[in-house]
Amino acid sequence: MSKYWSPIVSALKPYVPGEQPRMANLVKLNTNENPYAPSDKVIEAIRAAANADLRLYPDPLALDLRAAIAARYGVEPEEVFVGNGSDEVLAHSFAALLKHDRPLLYPDISYSFYPTYAGLFGIDAVEVPLDDAFRVDIADYRRPTGAIILPNPNAPTGIGLPLATIETLVAEHPDQPVVIDEAYVDFGGESATALVPKYENLLVVQTFSKSRALAGLRVGFAIGQRPLIEALERVKDSFNSYPLGRAAQAGAIAAIKDEAWFQATRGKIIASREKLTSELKRRGFEVLPSQANFVFARHPNHAGGTLAAKLRERAVIVRHFAKPRIADFLRITIGTDEECARLVAVLDEIL
Ligand code: PMP
Repeated sequence: MSKYWSPIVSALKPYVPGEQPRMANLVKLNTNENPYAPSDKVIEAIRAAANADLRLYPDPLALDLRAAIAARYGVEPEEVFVGNGSDEVLAHSFAALLKHDRPLLYPDISYSFYPTYAGLFGIDAVEVPLDDAFRVDIADYRRPTGAIILPNPNAPTGIGLPLATIETLVAEHPDQPVVIDEAYVDFGGESATALVPKYENLLVVQTFSKSRALAGLRVGFAIGQRPLIEALERVKDSFNSYPLGRAAQAGAIAAIKDEAWFQATRGKIIASREKLTSELKRRGFEVLPSQANFVFARHPNHAGGTLAAKLRERAVIVRHFAKPRIADFLRITIGTDEECARLVAVLDEIL
């Protein structure tokens, strides 16, 4: 590459997504997908959309989907923004809301997309360390800041903050946008969507990828008061005015309406998480208290990287992060009970 281009290209630090390996008989517990198929009603709705309307452009305002999400969360459709996965919603939030004279704050350790977006949008960011128990302490956010973004529950720790603590954080920063990334909230966390009518600086971001088993469809959304949603719409329109295709809009509407599937599936995953947590503890692991569809665990006698490699040799894939403070840990997605049992059996061969 020429001298001119190489510094420009190497200054771009892209996010490295979790691996999607193509191996047979793999127990894939590395990217926090839902182990169950989505609701049949979603598949029916996508098929109907494909049969009827695929030659037509989708609704650029996604009004039916926004109305369905609004009805589910008790807000107005104008208080809902939708995008291609919550990653895109987060990207628009960084561009529209999180760039200020004073720094953006987010936890260290947290979702590794935040530094990527901060770099891409030229946002000055300060990473606020977790406390000794790997928890977010909102007292550490009482400092000059332009905006805050926080996953609740946090990733990859899985630890959640109670709603009252989130409310304190939002109330303590009335002049700063506070974005709560609730990708995993449906597995036992408390959603801040209920606070939206009260706080004009709060934006809550959620996804259909985890609790609704639709990672492949790419649908995410944000709930906030109208000015914040309007800001997101303006950024979106500056890129491309179709937030989602017809199949995604139709599938997501069916998903948000199927409350019975949602409750049953998240219940199964929470029960499997509790079972896996006790199996891991019985084998000497320290497991952080998770409110997500994964657990973050370390073993006193086995380095995280070595353990991940040995699991992989036996066709079980989990996520290991090289970052020094968490290098001992494995992030293990909650699979079906059969997948979790396979993981435990393989661990018994290794430990
Ligand atoms: N936020 C967090 C904390 C995540 O872990 C993820 C999943 N990698 C996302 C957002 C994005 O998920 P999606 O784009 O599939 O909605």
